Amino acid sequence: MTDKTADDLAAKRARWISAGWKPTKASNPNFKCRQCQSDDILFELSKSSDGAYDDYHYHCFGCDRDWWVESSDY
Ligand SMILES: [Zn+2]
Repeated sequence: MTDKTADDLAAKRARWISAGWKPTKASNPNFKCRQCQSDDILFELSKSSDGAYDDYHYHCFGCDRDWWVESSDY
């Protein structure tokens, strides 16, 4: 990975964080991507349109993967 790429990644992460995403590391240091084992992951809480449940939306900066976890059970 070149420094340029690292800078781009840092800039991208900063943009996402300013848009309301949070690093999983802050609240869950052991959280890792199942695909690439990176812990460089951001998440946001997104409500369904009717507000009946929340979904956690995760994005891994290691492999650029998105996934959702329903939190309707709590
Ligand atoms: Zn990953």
